[in-house]
Amino acid sequence: MKLYEPVTLAMPLARKLGEFIVEKGRLPNGEELRAVLREMGLEESCLDRSMAVFRSRFLVAIAFPRETVVIDVIPSSGELSDALEVIAYRDRKLESFIVEIVPANDLEYEGNIGIEPVIINEKNLTLESNPVLGHFEEDGEGLFLVIDPKTHERWKSEGDVHVCPICGGELAWKGKKAYCRDCGYGVKVVGE
Ligand SMILES: [Zn+2]
Repeated sequence: MKLYEPVTLAMPLARKLGEFIVEKGRLPNGEELRAVLREMGLEESCLDRSMAVFRSRFLVAIAFPRETVVIDVIPSSGELSDALEVIAYRDRKLESFIVEIVPANDLEYEGNIGIEPVIINEKNLTLESNPVLGHFEEDGEGLFLVIDPKTHERWKSEGDVHVCPICGGELAWKGKKAYCRDCGYGVKVVGE
């Protein structure tokens, strides 16, 4: 997996945290969160009692595993306007676990990265929202968010597949691939 901009880490990370919660019925602890970040190809470069710093060639991720799990993803260039925050927490009122991606600079952003936050019912551990998350793959045409057919089906029936899950811009579909003129990323449906 190539990690260039914060979104290329934030979206697969949010998906992975959602899968972890569905499997275990709780949020990851510090140790488990660090394992997830290492699995995503990041190198651990500093560990303190309250936070861990990870890096790849283009990104720096700072994880704060507390009652609310917070991971800040910053370009290693230091360009903070592209920074994103992945947050996972238990919402007692909604009796659900929530995983969401929040832009550090949300003034310019109108949509929701991933269309909707991950909302998992804490009683039966089922997904109650319509998040469009996946991992990024590069091909001859560019960098694509790869989603599975299940995610695509749910998105088609509950949402608008012409809204880019990365930037909120307009997506143009051509078969199983979609292109966004606003952010330059695409979306690709892969799998059976
Ligand atoms: Zn876009």
